[in-house]
Amino acid sequence: MPDTLDSIRDRLLAAQRIVLTTHIRPDGDALGSEIALGRWLRGMGKAVYCLNADPEPKPLRWLMDEQPKKLVRVYDPGALSHAELIAEADLRVVVDTNAEHRMGDVGRAFRAAADAGKPVLLLDHHPDAETWFTEAHTDTGSAATGEIIYDLIAGHDPSGIDRAIATALYVAIMTDTGSFRFGATTPRTHAIISDLLARGDFRPEPIHIALYDGKTHSALRLLGLALGTIRTHYGGRLASMTISQETLRASGADFEETEGLVQYPLSLEGVVSAVIFLETLNGIKISFRSKGDCPINKWAGRFGGGGHPNASGAYVTGKTLEHVRKEVLDAAPPHVAAPPEDLADADDNGELSDEQRQLLMAFQGKLS
Ligand code: 5GP
Ligand code: MN
Repeated sequence: MPDTLDSIRDRLLAAQRIVLTTHIRPDGDALGSEIALGRWLRGMGKAVYCLNADPEPKPLRWLMDEQPKKLVRVYDPGALSHAELIAEADLRVVVDTNAEHRMGDVGRAFRAAADAGKPVLLLDHHPDAETWFTEAHTDTGSAATGEIIYDLIAGHDPSGIDRAIATALYVAIMTDTGSFRFGATTPRTHAIISDLLARGDFRPEPIHIALYDGKTHSALRLLGLALGTIRTHYGGRLASMTISQETLRASGADFEETEGLVQYPLSLEGVVSAVIFLETLNGIKISFRSKGDCPINKWAGRFGGGGHPNASGAYVTGKTLEHVRKEVLDAAPPHVAAPPEDLADADDNGELSDEQRQLLMAFQGKLS
């Protein structure tokens, strides 16, 4: 039996019109993978478009500005041209997510195509893929979907990796590995990065600056307020952070500037798992993170979400922030693997002292 990656490559090479998509609120791996695959296929003379439910976040705007116009577009469910592109393509390909609802409106259109017998392929590294794809290549051993796209392209002809493709794949792999620090990072990850740097002739530093050093005052003000909401639970193995609409308003930050905040509760000594509760206008967005051998995707699954063993998410509607927070924290013990003697002592023990709180208030006052 041929390898699924070889078989998907063969299908791509045999197609003429191809539409790619990825998940809502696309991140570096989502867009980097899409752009690399899209540009490689265009280089092979194919008509390729990426149609996404959401636009890129601000830190990735520079990457989009470097792409040919119209390679990546935000899907408009009312636009006949977009519906036609999806329905009439020879192939539809999903990267970096494996669930219809994670693709927003594009998911519905891709699913409808699959239901009508038209091929929809999957290239992804998340576990538990939905079963409606015509053909799926899932490699949960890849730290990023970008590694899979690299294998797909390099397995055909590594000289096809030009500067634009190398840059997009670097962004994909660097962001999904937390700058090469997360547990999924392997020797293969570094071997791929080495090859990308050699072939692409690009410099990593400007990419890191563009991605991580473009914060606004509002984002830092939000960080100040958010740090004050950190609590620890279950003997300090779990830490939580809570961001209400009121906190967001008080900081003046955009919702997308909450990206990365969950790393702060996770950075506390002794913490193995962290969770952040973000109150949006329509519901509560929860991000789960963990270090080492502490899988939290089943925990996210209990709230209708999912993801990787060390990075998962869920979105809960129809309940208040406090209600969701209590339910999720109460459900934590089997997933954060707390020693049994600590479970009785589930109270928060990470309260700031009055003195610390005053320092924090003074700090926030200076920023505003
Ligand atoms: P984040 O917390 O950064 O939004 O997401 C972390 C990971 O969790 C993502 O890479 C994705 O795999 C997964 N994820 C986030 N939100 C959801 C969700 O609502 N449903 C599912 N199934 N997975 C999610
Ligand atoms: Mn990914």
